Amino acid sequence: MEKYSGFFCHVTQGGNFIMEKYLTLLKEKIEASDMVLVGIGESFGYTEKQALENKEYSIYFDKLKEENEWAMPYVYAKVAEQETDEKAYLNLAKLLENKNYFIVSLRTDDLVYKKEFGFKEERIVTPCGGVRKLQCENNCNNDIFEVPSGVTIALENFWANPENGLEVPEQKCSECNKNLMFNRMGASKYCEEGYLPMWEKYTKWLQGTLNHNLCILELGAGMKYPSVIRWPFEKMAFFNKKASIFRVHHKLYQLTEELSEKGYAVPQHPIEFLSNSFE
Ligand SMILES: [Zn+2]
Repeated sequence: MEKYSGFFCHVTQGGNFIMEKYLTLLKEKIEASDMVLVGIGESFGYTEKQALENKEYSIYFDKLKEENEWAMPYVYAKVAEQETDEKAYLNLAKLLENKNYFIVSLRTDDLVYKKEFGFKEERIVTPCGGVRKLQCENNCNNDIFEVPSGVTIALENFWANPENGLEVPEQKCSECNKNLMFNRMGASKYCEEGYLPMWEKYTKWLQGTLNHNLCILELGAGMKYPSVIRWPFEKMAFFNKKASIFRVHHKLYQLTEELSEKGYAVPQHPIEFLSNSFE
């Protein structure tokens, strides 16, 4: 039990029992709320490091390193899809069904947009980008582009049969002739136009939460970009008299003392937390 010490414990029994209690509490709080704010953090799923270290996928990375390094994020996303228990997303969708919600995700695997999960695209913002759009590596025109269907097909073929490598003509920017790359954080000159319109929508939505019964759910948000989820979510929970906040993280689950009345620190991996215990 040592690893559970130091979190605000509304339920004092141990192990799985605690987690089930938290889940029940979360369901109740969401049920009773008018609005639900969800933050999906960097550890909600397989990391790039894990993908690179997993021998099962080394053929993909070896092939791409030769001449198609730009496509690495596509493989990271596919590996994450492969390795993430989809029950976590499906159960999250169940929790949010018929609720007025907004999701901020720091993941770049675009799983949150997967049609089968059923989240509303107009209720999602992904400030770190992903692999749905392309941009000029020089960001010369501050614009984003659709992935041409030929490229999508080539990527899918590569994922199905990596042996032959990725066969796709190099995509060039029509204005400056530099290479095109996925519109995601990590691009040398990240084009923020990819998410800013949704971010604007999100901030308006946030302004509307103030006098409402708000349930805040943080899933695996660590200290990589704390100013996107952790800090503003804490602030929101603090200033909103009717808010509750659940922070689910396998290591960084602690909440500040000011939130002890309305905060639930859940010391578990967020994928596990959401994949288990649902009927
Ligand atoms: Zn360009």
